[in-house]
Order: sequence, then structure tokens, then C-alpha cells
Amino acid sequence: MATILLFLDRTGTAAGSPLSKVSEELLTLAHTAGEPVVALAGPSDDSLLEQLGRHGVSRVLVSEQPELNDYLLAPKADFLAHMVISTGACAVLLENSADGKDLAGRLGIALSAGVITDVVGLDSELVAEKSVLAGEYNVRARVTTATAILTVKANIVDVVAAETPVTAAVETVEVPFDAASQQVRIVQRSPRAVSGRPALEDARVVVAGGRGLDGDFGPVEQLADALGAAVGASRAATDAGWIDHAFQVGQTGKTVSPQLYISVGISGAIQQKAGMQTSKVIVAINNDEDSPVFEIADFGIVGDLFEVLPQATAEILRRRA
Ligand SMILES: Cc1cc2nc3c(=O)[nH]c(=O)nc-3n(C[C@H](O)[C@H](O)[C@H](O)COP(=O)(O)OP(=O)(O)OC[C@H]3O[C@@H](n4cnc5c(N)ncnc54)[C@H](O)[C@@H]3O)c2cc1C
Repeated sequence: MATILLFLDRTGTAAGSPLSKVSEELLTLAHTAGEPVVALAGPSDDSLLEQLGRHGVSRVLVSEQPELNDYLLAPKADFLAHMVISTGACAVLLENSADGKDLAGRLGIALSAGVITDVVGLDSELVAEKSVLAGEYNVRARVTTATAILTVKANIVDVVAAETPVTAAVETVEVPFDAASQQVRIVQRSPRAVSGRPALEDARVVVAGGRGLDGDFGPVEQLADALGAAVGASRAATDAGWIDHAFQVGQTGKTVSPQLYISVGISGAIQQKAGMQTSKVIVAINNDEDSPVFEIADFGIVGDLFEVLPQATAEILRRRA
């Protein structure tokens, strides 16, 4: 059975922490398409091994070399490249985050391997589906090199355990790092303030606001909290300083693929669509019935967001009470 290598970055993660939902989705794809092997940066623990065993992972290749934590991504790419060579993996699955795409590019060069980013579907033959041209088209593509490097968007599969759970065994590995990969040392880490909301990239529901909010994200945050959703934003809103750039969705922001994307006071420019068009259901709230956002919306509400959102939030809270 073909080996599918999956990268888990647990550097700095507390022992006993559960796998992230995105990691479980990648594991689901890996055990569906072949035999999953995990390349783990950072420590392993019994709870982690038990979770991996449920996903059919019997081999966990672990490196606790300090370089993986002390430098930016380059040593992790070195580690992964060595793991691909030693396992003969035919595919590497990575998160579709900025780091995941950075690693994919580095691996593609190191291994002369084909890279597909923004994957929204993957079959057992490793044919990947991705959306291109700002979400206007879906393309099915297959890497023609011996190893495929794939970055996979969140929320594209339901998490399921492997048919047969196995016992995951750790193999500690040490890899040589290229001198060139130790050129940028991390000198400080500052954790971002915890909001209590899900991470934008992983969230099943996103409520995003744009220029129509006129600087007041309160109604968007209240609806997001009623739904247990993440908050997103258009570039107009982040450029105006109403919300941090980390919340921007679009071509130059995050790409998200939630089950439900609620677009509030956003016109639906092509650069915004590029980051959210693969959402399963899109609801748009805009007071201009000719706004382009309605072209991609499954449900649209033409109205003033400052009237619509409080009513929607109140009704959701009433039904949940
Ligand atoms: C290279 C490049 C990269 C870019 N990258 C991104 C990106 O990553 N993400 C991104 O979002 N944009 C990006 N942009 C910018 C993009 O082109 C648009 O300018 C931006 O998305 C517009 O944001 P908006 O929809 O919030 O604002 P607007 O286009 O001004 O739309 C505001 C909308 O709010 C509606 N509205 C106003 N008041 C109300 C109300 N009271 N109730 C309901 N609706 C109301 C209006 O009808 C309008 O449709 C990029 C542009 C370039 C050139």
C-alpha cells in the first residue's frame, strides 16, 4: 500500500494536547488513500500515539532536535525531505496554511516533486481537486513526479477513524540540517491573545465583515459568538484598521472553506472571493441588491446589516435557549 506522509508540528505544544481538527482531517485523507506515516516535529506522548493509532498510523518518525524549534521553517523542510526519502512516501499532506504552503514550496524544490496547493478534494488515486482563478473554476490534477506535495484546505472531509485501529510506535530520528536552513533564528515568541473563538482557517462557520460595517465589528462578533463561529474580514476592513490583518480573508489574506460563510457588508470583489468561494454555503447580507456578492451567494438578504444582524443574533439565541 502506498505510503502517505503527514507532517505534525507539535513543537511547543503541551503534552496531552489533542490533535487539531485539521490534523485529524489530514489523517482521515491519509488512511483513506494509503498507509499513513507521521513525521512528528516535537515530543510524542501516550495520548498522541493513541489518537494516531485510531487513525491507522503505526509508524511515527519523531525528531526532537532543537533546530526544529529554534529556527524558522527551513529545518522542518529538511526534516520532511529526509523522511520522504527514508519512507519512499508517494505523497506528503500538509495544512493549507502560510507555513504549510511555505514548506510545500521548499519540499518541491528539495525533492524535485510536484506541488498542488489549495486542495479541496483528494481521491484514492491522489487526484486532487483545487479551485483556481479566484474560485471561478475547479480543476482536477495529479502530480506526475514520484512524490506529490499537497496542501489541503480545512473542512473538506468529515473526520473518521481508520477501519482497524493499530498501535503507533515511535522511531526517533536525527537528520542533518543544511547550513543554509539555519540562517534565521527565532529570538522571541509572543502568543496572540486568545479570543475564545475558533481559528479562522479551521472554523466550520465564519462570519466576515467588510466596509459596510463602517468601523463597528460589534454586530458581526455577536452573531459569530451566537453561532460559535470565527470572525473574518475583507481587506477594506483590515486596511482601515478596524480589525487585525490576521482576520483578512482573500487573495492576500487567509483562504477558508467553512461549511457556512456569512458575508456582511462585503461587495464580493474577486480578491475576496479567492479566499472564500469554496465555502459550502454562502449567505450574503448587503443593502445593494446589485452587489456582486449575490452572484456567489446561496442565500442573500438585501438589507441594512445593522437591522438584519441583531435580529438574526437574537433569534438564534432565542432558539438555543
Ligand atoms: C492585489 C490586491 C489584493 C487584494 N486582496 C484582498 C483580499 O485578500 N481580501 C479582500 O477582501 N480584498 C482584497 N483586495 C481588495 C478588493 O479588491 C476590494 O477592494 C475589497 O475586498 C473591498 O472590501 P469590501 O467589500 O469590504 O468593501 P466595498 O467594496 O466598499 O463593499 C462594501 C459593501 O458594503 C455594503 N454596505 C454598505 N453599507 C451597508 C449596510 N449598512 N448594510 C449592508 N451592506 C452595506 C455596500 O453595498 C458594499 O457592497 C485586494 C485588492 C488588490 C488590488
